[in-house]
Amino acid sequence: MTSNPSGIGKLDNLQQEADCIAFPACRRGRGVHDALSKPLTFFEQSPRSDEIAARFPDLHPAFDKTAAVAEANRCLYCFDAPCTTACPTHIDVPRFIKRIAADNVEGAAKTILDANVMGESCSRACPVDVLCEGACVLHRYNRQPIAIGRLQRFAMESLNETGGGLPYAPAPETGKSVALIGAGPASLACAAELRRHGIRAVIYDNRPLPGGLNTYAIAEYKLTPAVSLREIDRIHALGVEFHLNTTVDAAMLDRLDNEHDAIFIGVGLGAVHRLGLDGEEKYNITDALTFIAHYKSGDITAISGRVGVIGAGNTAMDAASASVHLGASEVTMVYRRGPEQMSAFHFEYEHAKHEGVHFLFRANPVGLKGNGRVEALQLEHLEMTSDGSLVPVPNSTFELPVDHIVLAIGQSSHTELLDGDETHPPRLKLERGRIVVDRATGQTSDPRYFAGGDCTNGGREVVDAVADGKRAGRGIAAWLGVLNA
Ligand code: SF4
Repeated sequence: MTSNPSGIGKLDNLQQEADCIAFPACRRGRGVHDALSKPLTFFEQSPRSDEIAARFPDLHPAFDKTAAVAEANRCLYCFDAPCTTACPTHIDVPRFIKRIAADNVEGAAKTILDANVMGESCSRACPVDVLCEGACVLHRYNRQPIAIGRLQRFAMESLNETGGGLPYAPAPETGKSVALIGAGPASLACAAELRRHGIRAVIYDNRPLPGGLNTYAIAEYKLTPAVSLREIDRIHALGVEFHLNTTVDAAMLDRLDNEHDAIFIGVGLGAVHRLGLDGEEKYNITDALTFIAHYKSGDITAISGRVGVIGAGNTAMDAASASVHLGASEVTMVYRRGPEQMSAFHFEYEHAKHEGVHFLFRANPVGLKGNGRVEALQLEHLEMTSDGSLVPVPNSTFELPVDHIVLAIGQSSHTELLDGDETHPPRLKLERGRIVVDRATGQTSDPRYFAGGDCTNGGREVVDAVADGKRAGRGIAAWLGVLNA
């Protein structure tokens, strides 16, 4: 595997370069970028690798206008449309599709953005089969559902071509301010909603570029960093402030607490779990999120040899498919249970199989073999007992030869900054590592704190995080008295 052990690789390096170029006093930037020029947009800072682009073509290429209008004309424009109900952000789907059919593509894009400020990334990353398209009434007539995701993408890309922005401007300033911890979809959606109500929104994130999983961890053939960052530029234009490369610890949270009227926590999830096997730290074992971030940055452009991916969720599927695209000679997914228990969506499983990924079910890692680098994963077969528990099959240990191992066996919670100690109780109420919130408003056990996204739901879709952030933004505005609840 061609990799840079320094972490996120080019995403970080590019940001450092961009920071340097953007600062007038920076010598390195002189001669490259006019010292008086505007700072680079986030989109302009996105990493680009021709090799990665070639290896990861679009899964569903965009509609052209003729195809989009033809597809839009198949829609029945249902009253009380189930597709709209199924969308966590409740985009008015028949309305935007009707606008495409009427050749009002900008109007279609603005209908989408009015409900979902991250409608572009959602058009690519949403599991539409189980959300809007899964609910389309055409299923009842044994007809293909409307390709809502592709129509949404068509509308958003058309808006990009014309340089259009959001359908709303910030409201007059109210003098209120909110600090948002984390720059992922939940915080971004919350920040947009706050600006819509004239509330100052200041985002803090420890990474060099905003977007969280959208920028760093969604499979490249679905969503590229450039698309994620272009969308964030629209949110930035509302006046949202970003403090990147900034880690918020408990002391800093105290300071932010004093400086702002409310706090939004959108920190996502923490580190990927490890296997807990002897010698694990010695071998070339990476976690799926780091692996995906590396290739999306162009820091890894190829893999040679055999890859074992451990886990069977959607991130595991993405890592396995990516390994195939990067040139691995063989990719095998290892899962303790059977295919019916996988947490990955069925279409992701089918996609991985179609890509040539092999599956090893009811197999449990028990050891590693290698000499400096891993050479084999030792496994034992499992069988299910009558009470549903899994037990090892006696004398069933075997080896899977591998050159790389990618772990995707769940993530820990990421709420250290909320933890208490012997003398202080935890700052917010947590259950199983998740922040407890009022679902309608995102408000936590401390009324000045709101939260949303993976740190509250344990890890769901981008669109769920956007919906959480939007609700919390309104919840904060109502709590601060600038919106009638
Ligand atoms: Fe159109 Fe299907 Fe939605 Fe009805 S349910 S409005 S047919 S996309």
